[in-house]
Amino acid sequence: MSLHRPRPPVTQPVFRFAPSPNGRLHLGHAYSALLNAELAARLGGRFLLRIEDIDPGRCRPEFETGIYEDLAWLGLKWEEPVRRQSEHLAEYRATLDRLKRQGLLYPCFCSRRQIAEVASRHEADAGPWPRDPDGSPLYPGTCRSLPIAARQARIAAGEAHAWRLDMAAACRLAGMSLPYIRFSPAGAEEQMAAFPERWGDPVLARKDTPTSYHLSVVHDDALQGVTHVVRGQDLEAATDLHVLLQRLLGVPTPRYHHHALIRDESGGKLSKSLFSESLADLRRRGATADEIRRMLGFQG
Ligand code: GLU
Repeated sequence: MSLHRPRPPVTQPVFRFAPSPNGRLHLGHAYSALLNAELAARLGGRFLLRIEDIDPGRCRPEFETGIYEDLAWLGLKWEEPVRRQSEHLAEYRATLDRLKRQGLLYPCFCSRRQIAEVASRHEADAGPWPRDPDGSPLYPGTCRSLPIAARQARIAAGEAHAWRLDMAAACRLAGMSLPYIRFSPAGAEEQMAAFPERWGDPVLARKDTPTSYHLSVVHDDALQGVTHVVRGQDLEAATDLHVLLQRLLGVPTPRYHHHALIRDESGGKLSKSLFSESLADLRRRGATADEIRRMLGFQG
């Protein structure tokens, strides 16, 4: 008997920070980026930066430049080239097509207002309408039952449409159990169960672009070999949907850590859309990168 046993392949951990250039970065982003970079360094892993710029209405080149400036100022180094999602729309379209061929998507012609009206009409006389984890009313399923011919005619007539995942069909195909592993920066691991049904039939391709946050993030994490996703707790519920999409697309599920959100003095979530100070503002007011790092609990 040979004593030589083949070693299992060791995969190098891959972490990523994936901001959207729709505003200047604030302390919450700094925390997420520093935590990703620190864990990557601790585990001998790689640290990637990905620019999630699929929303043409909200993303601006100056915000992308700001991301590079702010992260470099914090002392972070990332691999080049940086993946910019807007340059890969054809790939997302191809991934979307795979799900379409599996019979899991349907075109949806409804506007947000129409959906809200269904929900409020229901609430006026029959009690609360179910909502997704972000608080939006669940899709009532109006377009799910449209006959194929009607769908085709409306698409052929150029009517704007999104593509929604038929959640019931997707869950039937994916199976009952959708486990994933949650990890803590200290190294603890815990098996979790994903419940994507709470998203109803989510939009996977928006009317204005052949993709969505959920589809692009799952596609890219798989393509880039991301093994550890570290992001804010505000995206914890989205993970349930991501785990489902990974199962449907036959790609590995990374490990997840959802960190607590950095809160401003009033206890609200620090968000680019609120009046919290950006890293650029803090820098202008004389803050140093060391101070910011220490303030966020990292070594200065
Ligand atoms: N692009 C997302 C954001 O800026 C983060 C995506 C992720 O980490 O999965 O909120």
